[in-house]
Amino acid sequence: MLIVYEITFIMFSHIRSIGGNMEAYCMKCKAKREMQSAEQITMKNGRPATQGVCPNCGTKMFKIGKS
Ligand SMILES: [Zn+2]
Repeated sequence: MLIVYEITFIMFSHIRSIGGNMEAYCMKCKAKREMQSAEQITMKNGRPATQGVCPNCGTKMFKIGKS
């Protein structure tokens, strides 16, 4: 059980580790903003992408590719 917990923790901290310092284009602000709570995700086709939230308006931001 401890091993399962540790693996979960490692995966979680890996997702979190990139947070905060990535720019993406906000569709609502029509400007580049620094992505908040950025997360590395994998799209359905297996390619990496980054997802976050606009610090200005709270709209979800999305950027294809690794940080
Ligand atoms: Zn925005």
